[in-house]
Amino acid sequence: MSENISKIKQIHKLLKTKQISCKELTSKYLDAIDKYNNTLGAYIKVTDELALNAAEKVDEKVKKGSELLPLEGIPVTLKDNISTNGIETTCCSKMLENYIPPFDATCWDIIKSQNGILLGKANMDEFAMGCSCETSRFCKTSNPHDLSRVPGGSSGGCSCAVSANLAAYALGSDTGGSIRQPASFCGIVGFKPTYGSISRYGLLALASSLDQIGPMATSVEDASIIYDALSIKDEKDSTCFGNVNGPTQIHLNKDINGMKIGLPKQYLEGINKDVSDSIFKAIKVYESLGAKIVPLDMPDIKYSLPIYYILVCSEAFSNFARLDGIRYGHRTNSYTNLEEFFSNSREEALGEDVKRRILLGTYVLSGKNYEHYYKKALKIRETIFETFEKAFKECDIILSSTVPQTAFLHNFKPEDQMEAYMTDICTVPANIAGIPAISIPCGTDSNNLPIGMQLIGNSFCESKILNAAYKFEQATFAKNHKSINMGVNL
Ligand code: GLN
Repeated sequence: MSENISKIKQIHKLLKTKQISCKELTSKYLDAIDKYNNTLGAYIKVTDELALNAAEKVDEKVKKGSELLPLEGIPVTLKDNISTNGIETTCCSKMLENYIPPFDATCWDIIKSQNGILLGKANMDEFAMGCSCETSRFCKTSNPHDLSRVPGGSSGGCSCAVSANLAAYALGSDTGGSIRQPASFCGIVGFKPTYGSISRYGLLALASSLDQIGPMATSVEDASIIYDALSIKDEKDSTCFGNVNGPTQIHLNKDINGMKIGLPKQYLEGINKDVSDSIFKAIKVYESLGAKIVPLDMPDIKYSLPIYYILVCSEAFSNFARLDGIRYGHRTNSYTNLEEFFSNSREEALGEDVKRRILLGTYVLSGKNYEHYYKKALKIRETIFETFEKAFKECDIILSSTVPQTAFLHNFKPEDQMEAYMTDICTVPANIAGIPAISIPCGTDSNNLPIGMQLIGNSFCESKILNAAYKFEQATFAKNHKSINMGVNL
């Protein structure tokens, strides 16, 4: 059964047994993008020539009978904040509309060295701020399960492409939930590993102490294969340790009888009824697999969201200083002095949420506010870290919903900005603590929209959550994975 679930293994089998050549496979994906991308808006750039050239190399290797590397010949898309040498990397902002990086992000470098097939760059919320993919400068992305709804964000182009099989997998980035939330909305697997396990070199930073690159795929096994291939220590990112505990794939099928799964009551507050029903059904599945549910009380978790916004705005403010129209970014034509040049360049090129966050960051870091907000947030961050440490003394992993609701309608306007920010309430704590978390499909709501369940582990304990996620997927795959009648039929 597991062979059928892993798309990577399935593709490798097709290539090795010569049922399809890599060039044919790549053309299939490119044709599907051609046919469906107008409707879905997953891609903002298609790199067909690059993809076909890489496919040719794979075919030569197959002809020679050489072994294929883990990501060799697998069609992938990258979120548009991951640097690709010679290919526009815009963060879907007018600010970087014409920016072409002169170097590769390490994760893309690894994939490229394995002859991975880059199909193109995926749409995202501007500078990875948002949860709907609607703040992109380029186009609207839709949810393949219901075109009137959003795919989530900020990695919404990735979740859409993977869910509709316009790519076999994607790499997204997650600062406060941007891999897991769109994965949950689109019914796929989204994995944010431990901070520092996959290199951030070449990722256009939103908040450097929270950002993490990770896989978005259709199965837990694929997420594990991709994670194992990319979690390599990187000199170019001083915070990158690689995968300190060795490959995760060998742990996937371990018996979870006796595993302790923590259920913090704070994560269950205020979530939609269909979502909580699915979570409780998932708990029953785990109990039937022999896991023990441990109720947890983690009151400090409620501070995660407010401090997230203080940290994210402060770090974005600092990271975005270079986007001034001189060092990087859009240049205005209308100015009479230097100050006007900076302010008009930014005014013309940045979207509303980006401006709001830069201004908040400026405020939070100015004068006495620095002590009052920023330093206090750092202290509370420590407390949240300790809260998790304590929790992991009582349990192996923590279970919650990924998002309190399912995919919302396009152009949905929440009552106020705070309500929009609330979608991140379950995902943000793992970024604050730097620990790994995965979202996997666990059911559907009354509109037949996917619901995601989140499993959180202690630092560098990716194997434990992948193992628990895999076991759940094995037990429920047929029920929870809704196939979509678009994209490539393998
Ligand atoms: N939705 C969150 C935000 O807007 C998460 C962003 C992210 O993870 N990149 O900040």
